[in-house]
Amino acid sequence: MKIAKIKNSTKEYEIGKIVCIGRNYTEHAKELGHEVPEFPMMFMKPASALVSPHKNIIHPDYSNDLQHEVELVLLIDKTIRNVNREEAEDAVAGYAVGLDMTLRDIQTELKKKGMPWTLSKCFDTSAVISPFILKNEYTLRGNEKITLEVNGVIRQDSTLDKMIFSPAQIVEYIASKITLEKGDLIYTGTPAGVSRVIKGDVIKACIENVGELTTQVI
Ligand code: MG
Repeated sequence: MKIAKIKNSTKEYEIGKIVCIGRNYTEHAKELGHEVPEFPMMFMKPASALVSPHKNIIHPDYSNDLQHEVELVLLIDKTIRNVNREEAEDAVAGYAVGLDMTLRDIQTELKKKGMPWTLSKCFDTSAVISPFILKNEYTLRGNEKITLEVNGVIRQDSTLDKMIFSPAQIVEYIASKITLEKGDLIYTGTPAGVSRVIKGDVIKACIENVGELTTQVI
């Protein structure tokens, strides 16, 4: 069982499923050659893929293009299904910064064949997560800076207001399709600037006032 750590709190959440949103920043959708979506595009990762920042990202040997995606991550606090925007917002307990590590070469191959992305998104250590900050500690303004650097060089640099679908819109949409439960995580998509990392690279990711993480690819 994976546990979500909470800043300044002894509260713990057993992590359930991880729902991820793709193409949620216009510039990133474009850099991968996609249209801007009309509704949130969902896929999932297993909880077994999660690691905290002090653990390394293990580069799978069947890929030559491991890429970083820095994302705002939401922690769900209650069971919800078919809720309005306000109830969706209310179901979010807090926020963290996460990495949705992706095997871009494998993903491109799977997309071409019309096959599921599983192998490219679900490998062990593909989901890095910082401790969560609860909403009663910090209320998201919505325009916080989101950045990622590799070996001290900035690769992703944006703000959360560039998201196409807001956190509440995303939660409302997901809960219109499947049940969300306490302890579920939602990765909300990455801004432009995704790029390859190799063994030895040190990744530092940060969302202003929410959290930061540092990890290494081995
Ligand atoms: Mg992503």
